[in-house]
Amino acid sequence: MMKCYDCMEEGSDNEAACICISCGKGLCADHTKELEMPVSVGTPPNVKRLPKGLPRLICKYCIEKTIEDGFD
Ligand SMILES: [Zn+2]
Ligand SMILES: [Zn+2]
Repeated sequence: MMKCYDCMEEGSDNEAACICISCGKGLCADHTKELEMPVSVGTPPNVKRLPKGLPRLICKYCIEKTIEDGFD
């Protein structure tokens, strides 16, 4: 079973519940952020935004980095 990487850094020992989509490290529920990415379908000029974004699981470190760098 994979361990939560962030918990390990804090000196605790928790099972990972998921994996960060960005860096691939194991994360427990406490250390996971849910990021909703807007999803577009179709080809221009008929591009549609899906009403519901795709939820992505991402670690705190990556969400900070992602927001800083933008999505593109
Ligand atoms: Zn954790
Ligand atoms: Zn990450």
